[in-house]
Amino acid sequence: MKKVDQYLQQLIELGEAELVLGWGATERRGERVESSPPGAEAPARREAGAKAPQVTVPRGLSVEAPATSDDLFTADPIAAAPDLSAIAKLVAGCTRCGLAHTRTHTVPGEGDAHAGFVVVGEAPGATEDETGRPFVGRAGQLLNDILKAIGFAREQVFIMNVLKCRPPGNRDPEPLEVAACSPFLRRQLELLKPRVILAMGRPAAGTLLGTNSSLSDLRAKVHSYRGIPLIVTYHPAALLRNPNWKRPTWDDVRLARRIYDGEAG
Ligand code: URA
Repeated sequence: MKKVDQYLQQLIELGEAELVLGWGATERRGERVESSPPGAEAPARREAGAKAPQVTVPRGLSVEAPATSDDLFTADPIAAAPDLSAIAKLVAGCTRCGLAHTRTHTVPGEGDAHAGFVVVGEAPGATEDETGRPFVGRAGQLLNDILKAIGFAREQVFIMNVLKCRPPGNRDPEPLEVAACSPFLRRQLELLKPRVILAMGRPAAGTLLGTNSSLSDLRAKVHSYRGIPLIVTYHPAALLRNPNWKRPTWDDVRLARRIYDGEAG
C-alpha cells in the first residue's frame, strides 16, 4: 500500500471527517502541484518557505499517491509511443470505441517503417479483420497492382487505414470512431515521416485534411498534411465498381510517385 493510502486508512479508522493535504509542491507547466505525502522525501524543487496550497479530499475518496510529480500528468501513451510496433500493441488493446466489441483482429497497418511512401485507406474489410492485415482482399490486390505500376513492391511502402478495426458489415466509419482512432494515425505518420501520403478514398482524404469536399474536388492536387505532401485518389474498391476512374487514378499515383522522387511537389 502506498504511503498516502496508509495515511488515509488511518484517518478513516480515527474517524476523521476530511483530510487536508498540504504537502510540498513542485512545478510543472507553470502550475504548482502536490507531490509527496507526509513522511515522503521532500520534492527536489520545493522552494524553501513556500506555502503549499491546501486541497480538501472528502472522506471516502480514494487518492493514489504519485511516485513522482511527473506521474500526475501521465503522458498520453499514443502520442508517446516510441515506434510503430508500440502503436500496434496499443491498437491491439484499444477499447476507445465500440468496434472493440465487434472486431476479430485489429489492423494497425504494415510495411516498411522507413518507407517514404505511405498509403492511407478507410477501414479494414472482412478479409482484413480475419487476417489483421490491411488491404489483403480484392481491393488490396488492386492496390498491389497500382503500386507495382509506379515501381513499388507492397513491402516497400507502408499501408494503413484511418480505422484500425472493421465496422460491422463494412458500413461507413462513424465520426466518433474516426475521432477515437485518429490519434493512432497521427502518431504513425509522425513516426513514419513519409515524403508523400497517398490518401485513397474520400474518408481517408477527409480525415487527414479535415474537409468534407468531394473526391473529385480533392484529387489531382498536391495538399499538405502537417507539411507532408498529400495526394488524394479513388479508393481501389471504388475502382473495382467503376473502372472509368482508373485513368484519373493512374494520373494521381504517378503524381505521388513524382513527389516521392523529388520531381514534383
Ligand atoms: N479497404 C480499406 O480501406 N482498407 C482495407 O484495408 C481494405 C479495404
